[in-house]
Amino acid sequence: NSRLSDRVNRVKPSLTLVITAKAAELRRAGRNIISLGAGEPDFGTPEHIKKAGIEAIEKEHTRYTAVDGIPELKDAIIAKFKRDNELDFEANQILVSSGGKQSFYNLCQGVLNDGDEVIIPAPYWVSYPDMALLAGGEPIIIEAGIEQGFKITAAQLEAAITPKTKMFVLNSPSNPTGAVYSAEELKAIGEVLKKHPNIIIASDDMYEHILLTDMPFTNILQVSPELTDRTVVLNGVSKAYSMTGWRIGYAGGPVDLIAAMRKVQSQSTSNPCSISQYASVEALDGPQECIQVMLTEFKKRHEFVVERINQIPGFKCIPAAGAFYAFMNVKDAMKMKGFSSDADFATAILEEVDVAAVPGSGFGSEGYLRISFATSMENLVEALNRIDRFMQA
Ligand code: PLP
Repeated sequence: NSRLSDRVNRVKPSLTLVITAKAAELRRAGRNIISLGAGEPDFGTPEHIKKAGIEAIEKEHTRYTAVDGIPELKDAIIAKFKRDNELDFEANQILVSSGGKQSFYNLCQGVLNDGDEVIIPAPYWVSYPDMALLAGGEPIIIEAGIEQGFKITAAQLEAAITPKTKMFVLNSPSNPTGAVYSAEELKAIGEVLKKHPNIIIASDDMYEHILLTDMPFTNILQVSPELTDRTVVLNGVSKAYSMTGWRIGYAGGPVDLIAAMRKVQSQSTSNPCSISQYASVEALDGPQECIQVMLTEFKKRHEFVVERINQIPGFKCIPAAGAFYAFMNVKDAMKMKGFSSDADFATAILEEVDVAAVPGSGFGSEGYLRISFATSMENLVEALNRIDRFMQA
């Protein structure tokens, strides 16, 4: 007899937010909290992109635009897909939304019926299962732990497929693990999907440009082009150009799926912010060196963080290939300290040594912690010293 909808009651509050709220509360109480929870680059938006935003205001680009995005931005997105991913899209195959988050939400609302199964590899980005649930879908989680490099195998995918499978979600580079699928791994996964023509593939390439090694980024369509008529590629400017607050994400895919997503958007938020759209044209068409500047810093921090974490008793961390997170196995550390839940473990670290990290259970993998290295080296050094002290105590 809740007065809320069954739909909303099916969804759980995010663990990430519980820790963030607790950190904020302690900070208000005067504690010197270091938060490693953030999912956004700590750099400013590059000057040339900000300038394009300011110019857009001055030129009065301040009104409604087409629901699916201004033609200039769609052109820039089409050129980007061609340049970076060898993918060909027409304007009616592109939808610009208010962040990558809305792109995935539109997709779920656009294709899922009640009871449709959505296969999601864990550790996963927190929002996938809940957005599937909100659309009536049923998340089917397949586990990929640290021992398999946080990547699912083609056999695991095959075993999870049922006649009710409607969608498969692929996120490489991954939030939270930083795992990147190689062309060979994607090809094997593509072979499985080829045998099941009714499955829609959501390829979330949000961290495409945040690469920490020499391994290149590959989109599944580059190795399995046969999947083109049922794959929606999701991307955005948030992470690559330090534009999280501008709220621009985009999708490229088959005409009917993009039309369904556009319909959902037309009856909810309409067009994404006009000013942000103009700034995003500059992000995609303008100089790309700003990405390298950020990457140089991320790589330095990543190297430090992985080495330092592995010196902490009971902590195990493998190098990431992309994104800006370290996802560490803390099962031994929890045992040493007598914790059976990673949420309690993260809360104890926060309360005792003032460091906020996100428990793995929030990403579908109990016994892990995620820290973001999108913060200064100084903060990282101090935070990991504190966690070390917590373990030694
Ligand atoms: N996809 C992944 C894997 C993410 O980590 C995020 C942000 O955290 C998004 C999509 C959505 O980003 P935004 O809505 O800020 O564009």
